[in-house]
Amino acid sequence: YKKLLKQIQYIIKISDNYQQELINTQDKLKKEIEERKKAEKKLKKISTRDQLTGLYNRREFEKIIKKEWKNAIRKFTPISIIMLDIDNFKEFNDTYGHLAGDNCLQKISKIMKNTLKRPRDFVARYGGEEFVAILPDTNQEGACNVAESLRKNIENAKIPHKNSSVSDYVTVSLGVATTNQADLLVYEELLDEADSALYKAKEKGRNRYISVEI
Ligand code: GH3
Ligand code: MG
Ligand code: MG
Repeated sequence: YKKLLKQIQYIIKISDNYQQELINTQDKLKKEIEERKKAEKKLKKISTRDQLTGLYNRREFEKIIKKEWKNAIRKFTPISIIMLDIDNFKEFNDTYGHLAGDNCLQKISKIMKNTLKRPRDFVARYGGEEFVAILPDTNQEGACNVAESLRKNIENAKIPHKNSSVSDYVTVSLGVATTNQADLLVYEELLDEADSALYKAKEKGRNRYISVEI
């Protein structure tokens, strides 16, 4: 009996050890999975975001506009694009330095993000001191309201710009383009229209938006 008891105790001990080992391996695996998930998230952030401003980048813009364009066609809803460009920004850099310029870009990005409130509204840094917003399911009037809010909120931030041709503060010009017939167009046409409208806003004196519907 004693011998049998000893053998049983020995078996129990081994099985306990195995169990502990299994738990340890499980914990290790869990940690590894967590770390991989974190690395994946980081990689995704790097590939979709602009490093300076934290806004989405142009590549992500292309991806989202294609998706929203299909949505607009399928659901017969309007869609608007806003192009935004900082006024006299070269002068800003020349006056205050490149670092202050970077700072200004960050501030304006934050204002844009805070101004666009609907969950599907999307804003990206298009390049340099130019930004682009996608407003799904938004008609011309709605898009103009958003453009004016962006313009006002940026002006009200009162970022000094003593050598601006427009104001004592940093201002922006915007081009707004809307369509109710996404099915008759490709998104590049709407983007072109927003760009032309922006150009006109610059021509007319800056610190304003121009809106078109196609
Ligand atoms: P306009 O009112 O017609 O828009 O004139 P502008 O001076 O804003 O436009 P322009 O295209 O002549 O100059 C854009 C400037 O934006 C030039 C460039 O140095 C600056 N810029 C672009 N990207 C960055 C950036 O990442 N950081 C900084 N600090 N400046 C930038
Ligand atoms: Mg500019
Ligand atoms: Mg520009």
